[in-house]
Amino acid sequence: MTKADPPCPVLRRGRAQGALLHMPLCFTAPMRILVIEDDAAIADAIAAALERSGHAVDRLDNGRQADVALRDHFYDLVVLDLGLPQVDGVELLKRVRARADAVPVLVATAREELEERVHALDLGADDYLVKPFALSELEARVRALLRRRTTRGVPELRLGRLRIDLPRRRAHLDDHALDLTPREFGLLEALVARLDRVISREQLVEALCSWDATLTDNGLDIAVYRLRRKLEGSGVGIRTVRGVGYLLEAEDAPA
Ligand code: CA
Repeated sequence: MTKADPPCPVLRRGRAQGALLHMPLCFTAPMRILVIEDDAAIADAIAAALERSGHAVDRLDNGRQADVALRDHFYDLVVLDLGLPQVDGVELLKRVRARADAVPVLVATAREELEERVHALDLGADDYLVKPFALSELEARVRALLRRRTTRGVPELRLGRLRIDLPRRRAHLDDHALDLTPREFGLLEALVARLDRVISREQLVEALCSWDATLTDNGLDIAVYRLRRKLEGSGVGIRTVRGVGYLLEAEDAPA
């Protein structure tokens, strides 16, 4: 583990591979969100709020680049401004739906774009917010869209004494909330999504990093170590499968 950390693999990841990684799962980990917004201050605020919620966020400020990114990468959700340079949001949405991409799209638009807003819903936006909006409302809408897409109405998972609330990104051991960082929760979510199957280190790194953030080998080791400590006594453990990866499994109940 001493060689230099590789760049985040999403830059080289094709859509098919991303889809393969996500498709068999009824919940995925952690959510990858693309924010398309040309007002830097608004984009900063949205990205910061979503990252605080534990999501991996990529940002683009023009429609042409966003069109390419949406063709080449897998996203769980898109936050889309309508007034964008090069290719505007309405045209971008049209292109996305024309290629049968069902990625949930939350349109964030100025009030004067009312007609376009209605048009956007007709074109296949899933929800919209009118600027200026409270970040708490944005977060709530994002949670609702992700819940609809990823958990099919089953927002909570139980494993041993562990309860995992996917939309709120919290975990409880019996009635006690576990104090997990967003990275640790993401790791738990990635592991639980492949329950009883081994997940490789590469898959974990891919699940946990975004374009502008790399997860080092050491960072992954530390996150696994800390999550293991926090899961002690839960009846759920992370087993290392030498040379392959990790496996989350329910431990045998004590006799
Ligand atoms: Ca704009």
